[in-house]
Amino acid sequence: MYKLYRKTGCAYRKVIKLDNKDKFYFMQETLDYMRENHLYRSTREFSSAQSKYVTLNGKRLLMFASNSYLDLCNNKEIKDFVKDNIDAYGIGSGGSRLTTGSSLLTEQLENTIAEFKNTESAIIFNTGYMANVGTISAVCNKEWVIFSDELNHASIIDGCRLSKAKIIVYKHNDMIDLESKILENPCKKGLIVSDGVFSMDGDIVNLPELIRLADKYNLLSMIDDAHATGVIGKSGRGTSEYYNMSKGADITLGTLSKALGSEGGYVCGSKILTEYLKNKSRAYIFSTAMSPATVAASIKAIDIISKNPNYTLQLQDNVKFFCNALKSNGINAYSETAIIPIIIGDEQKALDISNALFKEGIYISAIRYPTVAKGSARLRAALMSSHTKEELQFAADKISEIIRKAQ
Ligand SMILES: *Cc1c(COP(=O)(O)O)cnc(C)c1O
Repeated sequence: MYKLYRKTGCAYRKVIKLDNKDKFYFMQETLDYMRENHLYRSTREFSSAQSKYVTLNGKRLLMFASNSYLDLCNNKEIKDFVKDNIDAYGIGSGGSRLTTGSSLLTEQLENTIAEFKNTESAIIFNTGYMANVGTISAVCNKEWVIFSDELNHASIIDGCRLSKAKIIVYKHNDMIDLESKILENPCKKGLIVSDGVFSMDGDIVNLPELIRLADKYNLLSMIDDAHATGVIGKSGRGTSEYYNMSKGADITLGTLSKALGSEGGYVCGSKILTEYLKNKSRAYIFSTAMSPATVAASIKAIDIISKNPNYTLQLQDNVKFFCNALKSNGINAYSETAIIPIIIGDEQKALDISNALFKEGIYISAIRYPTVAKGSARLRAALMSSHTKEELQFAADKISEIIRKAQ
C-alpha cells in the first residue's frame, strides 16, 4: 500500500494529513526497504578505548577497521598531555572561535599544523566534515564551476551542493576526463577538488597532473588529505610529500581524527585563504569551538609524529607486508596507503564474511552501498602502525580462508 503512495508524492502527503498516526510511515517504509536489502545500519558499542585490541560485547578483537592508523587514540603521552591541559583550560570552550573559543592552545595547534604541512597558515574546524562543507561553501558560489572526482568523500559533495556552484563530476582520478570536462565547461571562477587518498579505495590522487591542469586553466585546486596525513610521504606529511612536491594544492584540507587519533579538521594554505575562511565560513563562525582537550591531543599527536617518523614508516612497511600476505594466499590486494580494499561484490556476502571474521576475533568492516556503489561491497582493511607481522599474517590467513569458504 505504501509503495503505491510513494510513486505519487501528493497522494502520499494527503494520507499523512488525513491521519496523524501516519506521519512516520515514510520512515518505517524506508527502514523496511533497507532491512530487506541488507542496507540497514546500526551502531556497535565498544567497552574499551580504540586501539589495536578492542572489546566489544565482552569479546577481545584485533582491530582492522579503525582510521586510527598510527594507533594514537589511546596513546599515554597524549593522554597525559590532555589531562594537564584539562586542568589548565577546563572542559568546554564556551563559544565559537570568534567569541570565546580561541585560546593559546588553538593558536598553537594552527601554527603546528601549518608547520607540519609546510604552508603559510592553517585554520581548524570542529570536524573534517565541517572543514569541507565550511570551506567549499565559503569559497564558491553560484558563479563558480566545481570539478569534483566521482569518488570524493560525502563531505566534499555536501560542500559543493551547499555552495550552489555548478558541479561537474569527472571520472575517478582520470586527468584526461578532467581536462576535457574543463574544456567543455569554460568558467570565470572554478575549483578542482579531490580526495588525496580515496577513503574507500585507498588509492592516491594524481596530484602533479591535477595541479598542472588547475594552473593551466587558472582554477583553484583543493585536496582532502584526511587519509594521507600521517600515512603517506616519507615523514607522513601527505600527498604533496608523497610526490616530492615543494608546493601542494592551493587549498589542502585534512582531519585530526584519523591518523592523528583526535578530532577536528583543518585547512591550510595561504594567509589570505585562512583569513577569508575566518571571516566567511559559516561552519567556522556558527559553531562552538572544540574542547581544549581535543585541541591539546592534536598538538601532542603532531609533535610525536614530527619527532618520530617511525610511526609512519612502520605503517608503510605493514601495508607492504599485508598486501603480500594476501597475494600469496590468492587474494588480490594492492595499496600504498593504510586502506586496503578487498572487493567482494554482493552486499550480504560481504557482511557474512565480516561476521565470520568477527567470530575469529578480527574486526574488519564490510563497506556497502550507499558508501560505495551497489554491487561493489567490500572488506575495508585498515592497518595500524602497531600491528605486528604475526598479527598481519594471522589476519591475512583468516581473511583468505573465509573468503574461499564463501565462494
Ligand atoms: C573522514 C573524512 C572526512 C571527515 O572528517 P571527520 O573529521 O571525520 O569529520 C573528510 N574527508 C575525507 C576524505 C574523510 O575520509
